[in-house]
Amino acid sequence: MGVDKKAFRSLSYGLYIVTAEHEGVAGGCVVNTFTQLTSSPFQVTVALNKENVTTGLVKESGRFVCTVLGESASMELIGAFGFRTSTEFDKFNGFTVQRDGAGVPYVTDSAVARFSMRVVNVVDAGTHLLFIGEVEEGEVLGSEDPMTYAYYHQVKGGKTPPKASSYVGDGAGEQPAASEAAKAEAEAPAAEKRYGWQCTVCGYIVEMDELPDDYECPVCGVGKEMFERVEL
Ligand code: FE
Repeated sequence: MGVDKKAFRSLSYGLYIVTAEHEGVAGGCVVNTFTQLTSSPFQVTVALNKENVTTGLVKESGRFVCTVLGESASMELIGAFGFRTSTEFDKFNGFTVQRDGAGVPYVTDSAVARFSMRVVNVVDAGTHLLFIGEVEEGEVLGSEDPMTYAYYHQVKGGKTPPKASSYVGDGAGEQPAASEAAKAEAEAPAAEKRYGWQCTVCGYIVEMDELPDDYECPVCGVGKEMFERVEL
């Protein structure tokens, strides 16, 4: 029998930002594939797409930081690290940046916890590299609930970037992109229907009748042609 892509939807994940720096170049990306591997010693794994700038930085520097995002994480933060490219956009600009004991930068906005790793092994997994890291530093940074991948899709209306490990294409990895508030409003019988535009790349929604020709998504940077009309 074949592989039913829908089966992958039943897997649970969190949402994390992995950052690294090599020779003065810093980068970061959003991942859902950060996992604890062993407790003695503390080891973790993370799978990163070979096309990501961050992947090269982790490989070259042999270090990375992972911050665990809380439910308050903004689409701007997720968009900056999840949908933009480090080579043409300073992902760290506008966010609170700290450095760990080894000097690796990380963002503390909406962070619940932070781990700093030294890479001890790399496995080539085709499109991705699987990094095994020994945890050298770990700390709690916030008390809110960590954001799950399901929460990101269902409540935040988030999309899965094509380079993510969990991307399955054909919309199979996507959930309906209406926020809880928008759903409640749509169900209210007396409510007048309102329309807006949703970015098909990152899920960002803007309430506007018509988008200007030079409109750019404030989250992922794509143009007007990547937006589709949605009922709010
Ligand atoms: Fe966007």
